[in-house]
Amino acid sequence: MADVEHGVAALARRIVFLGPPGAGKGTQAGRLAAVRGIVRIATGDMLRDAIAQGTALGKQAAPFIDRGGLVPDELLIGMVGERIGREDCRDGFILDGFPRTLRQAEGLEQMTGGTPSGFVVFDIEVPRDELLRRLSGRRLCPTCQATYHLQTNPPATVGVCDRDGSALVQREDDKETAVALRLSEYDARTKPLIEYFRARSRFHSIDGYRPRDVVFGELQGLLESGP
Ligand code: AMP
Repeated sequence: MADVEHGVAALARRIVFLGPPGAGKGTQAGRLAAVRGIVRIATGDMLRDAIAQGTALGKQAAPFIDRGGLVPDELLIGMVGERIGREDCRDGFILDGFPRTLRQAEGLEQMTGGTPSGFVVFDIEVPRDELLRRLSGRRLCPTCQATYHLQTNPPATVGVCDRDGSALVQREDDKETAVALRLSEYDARTKPLIEYFRARSRFHSIDGYRPRDVVFGELQGLLESGP
């Protein structure tokens, strides 16, 4: 019985963030993870860490990331499968940036016991011109991964991370040519996941073109109102 109860609790805490690059997945997933005490699995951050550490995975992934393409499915499925298998994910996890292809969604089904019906899926939608504005102004702290925006969320001192004083950088893949490829990859390979999850999970389409606190309030409300 205890196991059954544990299982039900764990299912309600499996959350997936879908949405194009720049929609605010990282911001919302990070906050939800902090407030609810759930592990956040951000595949983009994990890959950037692997590159920074010079691991074999990082070396394989780097060329795809820099030009704005998707890293091959098998690498992602292996990386996420290993992460989800750890003890701290037993009571749930928030997926931020995974799955991004149908093959990855099927991989997720396999690694979590064959059904995504217990997942809560938030698809954050933002108009294309706003995505371009967000991505082009985005700056990243290479040390702690905090993100800023030149206009809407600038650091206290220009070009410097508020948390640890590191010099902020623009992600290679936030530059114009890479952004164009990321958006077309999203349209071609990730968008079909909307129908996939709509048919299988508790699915919510979220208007991400609103202040971040308003979006967050809606997510919290939806999680609280659900089973
Ligand atoms: P993000 O920080 O989520 O925008 O991810 C940055 C980059 O990492 C993406 O543009 C891809 O190159 C790669 N990446 C992250 N997650 C995935 C994924 N699930 N599948 C393939 N590539 C990914």
